Amino acid sequence: MADRYLHLTGTAPGRFLTRRLGLPQPAPLRRWTLETPRLEGPLLHLTAGASAVTGVAEVLSRSGLPVVGDTDRPAAIVLDATGVATAAGLGDVHAALHPVVRSLAPGGRIVVLGTVPSPDDHHQAAAQQALEGFVRSLGKETGCGSTVQLVRIPVGGAAQAAESTLRFLLSPRSAYVSGQVIELTTATAATAAPGPAADPAAPLTGRTALVTGAARGIGAAVASVLARDGARVIALDVPGAREELERTADRLGATALPLDITAPDAADRIAAAVPDGLDVLVHNAGITRDRRLANMPADRWASVIEVNLDSVLRTTDELLKAGVITRGGRIVATASIAGIAGNTGQTNYAASKAGIIGLVRSLGPRAAADHGVTVNAVAPGFIETKMTAAVPLFIREAGRRMNSLSQGGLPVDVAEAVAWFAQPDSTAVNGQVLRVCGQSLLGA
Ligand code: NAD
Repeated sequence: MADRYLHLTGTAPGRFLTRRLGLPQPAPLRRWTLETPRLEGPLLHLTAGASAVTGVAEVLSRSGLPVVGDTDRPAAIVLDATGVATAAGLGDVHAALHPVVRSLAPGGRIVVLGTVPSPDDHHQAAAQQALEGFVRSLGKETGCGSTVQLVRIPVGGAAQAAESTLRFLLSPRSAYVSGQVIELTTATAATAAPGPAADPAAPLTGRTALVTGAARGIGAAVASVLARDGARVIALDVPGAREELERTADRLGATALPLDITAPDAADRIAAAVPDGLDVLVHNAGITRDRRLANMPADRWASVIEVNLDSVLRTTDELLKAGVITRGGRIVATASIAGIAGNTGQTNYAASKAGIIGLVRSLGPRAAADHGVTVNAVAPGFIETKMTAAVPLFIREAGRRMNSLSQGGLPVDVAEAVAWFAQPDSTAVNGQVLRVCGQSLLGA
């Protein structure tokens, strides 16, 4: 559904009127296109105190942006605050960013590198946790379509662990992600994809990906982005959506697999469709059956838990156990900010999506150790799809504006985050739940 307000504020009279009325001023977001695959401008590399990780400059040099130590108009700023271990050290964060934050180009990126707060050193833990509040506040201040994130690298680790994450965050692909904290694990060989280094232009070449709920909406966008990145895609959706599914699959050169993911033999049918194994499994299918709990019959409760959570648990377990998901494989599930913040009329939906977060956090480390597979989730906020088009007007308008970017996201924004999780070199990204919500106030 078109965001008419965003269109209005893109015109001179509309901008004048909405400014006078003190209304939100959403900036059009610059997303990835073939013609504009990168941010335009230099990357300013700053350090607060002394760095506590190795190889930051080397990793930034491969970001595709010219790295500088001083500039008038950076497209991106990376502040290495990994060495900040005391309250006084936070002054270095202020000293580094205060003079330059105003000069950030519209649609720019700020990424603060931190480390994991220590359970043994409460001064270090306080200082590193302080960065989270700092980043979340700065995300609310920057405006002009700019975003701010915190990436935690394990203490004493190497910045290489953050390479795929920085490539994503410092690019137009992360347009609708802001105010997020990403905690990396130590990159291990266990979750590395086998074979030669990936082609940066098509990093999923030779990989097979299956996306559930792929006929339309976010799932179709995920299938499209994974195909763009070189994957052989299998698009799964309910048999009732066969025509739409086949249209989507044909458009992408994907294979259509009409299948209800709740079917008892769903995992077997998926396994049969990928005789050489599955490298990327994206659990995207989801439904809502909203009612307040007092009015909710058991069937509405059960169907949402079954589609959104139970079938995800079951197929994941069965495919892992049968060895269908390859070493170096990636599982990406779909949560929601409703699963973080809760929502009136959505006790069933929010429970199912919070359940996904529990699944990811618990299974991630074990799947890495036992199967060499990472498990992560996206938690979309307000994304413009058929699902949100059905939301009543005023609630829909509130959902669109109540975030730092003052607009809804697009399915492709979620898809780009899924593609980042799916990257062969995202080995250190595990057990994470990334909100793709423009820093929504809900559950913030
Ligand atoms: P959508 O309704 O447009 O698409 C969902 C797809 O899943 C449909 O094609 C549907 O046929 C399919 N599906 C449903 N049940 C299935 C089953 N049993 N087996 C196989 N396929 C099935 O929804 P969307 O907005 O694209 O949402 C995709 C995912 O993102 C869902 O998990 C949803 O909960 C989540 N999400 C969406 C938003 C949003 O703002 N749109 C926000 C947060 C989370």
